[in-house]
Amino acid sequence: MLADRRVKIVATIGPSTQAEESLERAIRSGMNVARLNFSHGSHEDHLKVIQRIRKLSQKLKAPITVLQDLQGPKIRVGKFESGKIELKVGEQVTITMKSVMGRPGLIPSDFLELAQSVKPGVKILLDDGLLELKVLSVSGDEVLAEVIYGGFLKDRKGMNLPGVTLHVDCLTAKDLEDLEFGLANNVDYVALSFVRHAKDIRKLRELIEAKNPGTKICAKIEMIEAIDNLEEIVRLSDAVMVARGDLAVEVGQSRLPEIQKRIIKLCNQLNKPVITATQMLESMVENPRPTRAEITDVANAVLDGSDALMLSAESASGKYPFKCIQTMNEIIREVEQNTDRYYKISLENEFLSVAGAIAASASLSALKLDAKVIVCLSTTGRTANIISGFRPRSRIVAVTDNISALNKLELVWGIQTLLIGGYSTLEDVTSQVERMLIQYGLAKTGDKVVMTLGQPILDGAKTNNIYIFTLGGEGFERLADSEIPLRCQKESSI
Ligand code: PEP
Repeated sequence: MLADRRVKIVATIGPSTQAEESLERAIRSGMNVARLNFSHGSHEDHLKVIQRIRKLSQKLKAPITVLQDLQGPKIRVGKFESGKIELKVGEQVTITMKSVMGRPGLIPSDFLELAQSVKPGVKILLDDGLLELKVLSVSGDEVLAEVIYGGFLKDRKGMNLPGVTLHVDCLTAKDLEDLEFGLANNVDYVALSFVRHAKDIRKLRELIEAKNPGTKICAKIEMIEAIDNLEEIVRLSDAVMVARGDLAVEVGQSRLPEIQKRIIKLCNQLNKPVITATQMLESMVENPRPTRAEITDVANAVLDGSDALMLSAESASGKYPFKCIQTMNEIIREVEQNTDRYYKISLENEFLSVAGAIAASASLSALKLDAKVIVCLSTTGRTANIISGFRPRSRIVAVTDNISALNKLELVWGIQTLLIGGYSTLEDVTSQVERMLIQYGLAKTGDKVVMTLGQPILDGAKTNNIYIFTLGGEGFERLADSEIPLRCQKESSI
């Protein structure tokens, strides 16, 4: 069952996946998190996708995290008269900040401070570094540059100025409008692009708290300055994305593997969910099978300790979006099955809070008692999140009557989410939990269960207790696949 996979899958939604039937196929194939990329698409389109996902999620009983990815101060080239131009090695081209259509030899850019930000000798990378220019001179609002590595440059491709400190705000006017839209439509996470300082996260948090408190923040790490301020940024964020596209261009490609591992390790230590992103199965945009290097990249990102892996163009605009999700699912499952050293209870994780201490004790008890399931009765999902950080071998099942909390947990390693009906006593909870675990095939009568909860239950107290019991439920049996949540069904019947 899909619930057996621990590392989650983030799929970017776009033309290949945005129709209702396609979204259903994406969820059935294993998507846990839908990423809406606000560098593209209108609010109207994004709203339709959010509504479809919420509807399907209810129908399939499959919680989904909706991740709004803000464009941030991404520098882009403008549009060209014929959609693209060819840049030839050695050719001189002018980059203009004027609002004109581009043509051979003339590249428009919407970054008005470009001329003030560069000087002769500076490297300008285009389209994630596939094309390279060198600045020759600057005059007024135009930059003259020589083509070092050529090729075709299409409309609206990205521009990077590695090593140049840009005096731009992390949240642009477009981001503020998009954020307002996202918060009004209850996205679960907002991903902030080009974060450089902790103050960028603080500013976003203030805006969120004023409009839709509880919405979570994912910091996209893609700038050198973010690496310099990494620990503070990670501590203030709810999740982190290793945004390898821009990161590789900004830090230099050969530093990427080491930085990827460093970010993931720190996130694991500080108990923050971390997504490894970009080009994981890039060749599958065109082909039905991945390259050997991609298979190994996906597997290594799992071994590094990622909570989730992300598909970008592969699922947004590629030819094989569902095959990509299934392929990722398969590779992750294989690594998880065969790697004993993967499941480690490390008490090096920080657990300064009561919930942290309970989470550590629950993980350790489950290990020593060979408990099949750790159940977290939760209102916010916080304890389940911390338990996930201990990477226990036992299944982690978060139960709550709060749908929004369930949706937010889909991003986190190993957490399976179940919606529970109303309850007022511990007995109400255990009888519902017993029934669901057995009917959904998540555990069997006689299995040990470690449950974390807050007492008194009726007051919705914060987690302060561990209750360990042997699963009864003799009167229940596993239900037919058609009657249980999608991720508990046999994959052959999905
Ligand atoms: C990246 O740069 O890797 C990334 C995920 O961000 P975007 O797709 O917005 O460029």
